[in-house]
Amino acid sequence: MQQQNITSLVDSGMDLHQVVKKQVDNQRHSFLQEGRPSAAVRIDRLDRAIRLLKENSDAICQALSEDYGTRHRFQSMAADVLVSIEALKHSKKNVKKWMKKERRGAKFPLNLFGAKAYIDYVPLGVVGIIAPWNFPIQLMFSPLANVLAAGNRALIKPSELTPVTSRLTADLFRKYFEADEVSVVTGGVDVAVAFSEQNFDHLVYTGAPGVGSYVMQAAAKNLVPVTLELGGKCPVIVGSGACIKDVVERVMTFKTLNVGQICLAPDTLFIREQDLEEFSIQAKKYVHDCFPNIIDNEDYSSIINDRHFSRLMSYLQDCESRGTAIVPLGDSEDVADQAKRKIQPVLLVNPDDASLAMTEEIFGPLLPVKTYTCLTEVINFINERERPLGLYYFGNDRSEISSIKDRTTSGGMVINDIAAHALQDNMPLGGVGHSGMGSYHGYDGFRQFSHARGTYEQGLFSASTIFKAPYKDSTLKLLEK
Ligand code: NAD
Repeated sequence: MQQQNITSLVDSGMDLHQVVKKQVDNQRHSFLQEGRPSAAVRIDRLDRAIRLLKENSDAICQALSEDYGTRHRFQSMAADVLVSIEALKHSKKNVKKWMKKERRGAKFPLNLFGAKAYIDYVPLGVVGIIAPWNFPIQLMFSPLANVLAAGNRALIKPSELTPVTSRLTADLFRKYFEADEVSVVTGGVDVAVAFSEQNFDHLVYTGAPGVGSYVMQAAAKNLVPVTLELGGKCPVIVGSGACIKDVVERVMTFKTLNVGQICLAPDTLFIREQDLEEFSIQAKKYVHDCFPNIIDNEDYSSIINDRHFSRLMSYLQDCESRGTAIVPLGDSEDVADQAKRKIQPVLLVNPDDASLAMTEEIFGPLLPVKTYTCLTEVINFINERERPLGLYYFGNDRSEISSIKDRTTSGGMVINDIAAHALQDNMPLGGVGHSGMGSYHGYDGFRQFSHARGTYEQGLFSASTIFKAPYKDSTLKLLEK
């Protein structure tokens, strides 16, 4: 089936659910006809995805700039295009090895001479990928790298908040892939809802936890397994012996890259009272040095849309009305520019725990900073809230590190850096509790999108005839051994 324009099909009177279903059915039909794809077929698909990105990187960066208003090419290349190519290359390099059978010993209850027991990683079939707007390319291609390596077909629903990039990717997939291999369904929330109701063999959702719950409920109706890559509030703990200059550099880099619209961005920073002033001075210096003339600085991205701009401004106003100290870090007199949808980085010092900034995920350039006196206080604070996607500790105190490791749970943890674990293709990336379920990246992603089929090949003796009547005590004695 040729890739079709969803709007024209809907205009022709077909209902949305049916339109998307047709594409799922088409992919499943081809999947079943093809059988398990060889490593060469998978590598060819991964190669085409790499070529798609390499040959169209300028157009992709341009589309992202148009969607954001301001988004520097460096950012789109580094954090979207190149990260995706890396993930695809990693899958390509390892797919043959990952596909190998995993031998297990055949034993029941005695060694079963000549029998073979092994795990065979078989493709699931058709995998749905629902992607968000903050890194539209990376969060589409990184799961796709594992989905294709595992031998599946993929139907992708990009975000309606980046319409130019979404349309472009739909066109590009049409050029590099058959519709029954990989295709893109564009549209708004109505399309997303119809998409999540399909009988996929697996559904990957990246986005807000609230929507993740809807997606899971829709998938549950068809017993579709889900991987949910969600968000939340990632804490940063500045512990004993931390170099404040390094903390500032790493924290502020992730509060200014994509202006903090990152699931793993530092959300709330815990610091000892005596280090607060130094942190604040260094943070101002960082922003002044890196982003002169911040509101017009092309390196400093816009907030994605008016709704998110207003959301962030409402957090600021809420803090103001509660008397929280607001410390702008940039060089512009105004904290924000509505027309350009830019908000300069701001520290919110010791905000009320009931404030919006402390209860909602920030996902922007505001940074609540809370002072503390003992680490247990911080650990209790974290444990009283939803489990974070990322947890960061700065310092060199091994007993503090052990306490945090042993007494908290989070999707991932990084010591003396921010989000660095997400760049490791050899490690799973995923959340826990409200920050998500399941994980992907590298081998863990290959396994997530494969079915681990336990397979047994009979040897000299049959394992099942041990249950054969007439039942004898002597057989039970054998089993009891
Ligand atoms: P978004 O608004 O772009 O939504 C994401 C996708 O969900 C879109 O494709 C959208 O069409 C779809 N969608 C919306 N409503 C839906 C519904 N009712 N049913 C099915 N699909 C629906 O993105 P967002 O949610 O604003 O993304 C930001 C959130 O994503 C933050 O919470 C962030 O922390 C999280 N996030 C997580 C990761 C991760 O890897 N864990 C990565 C990026 C973002």
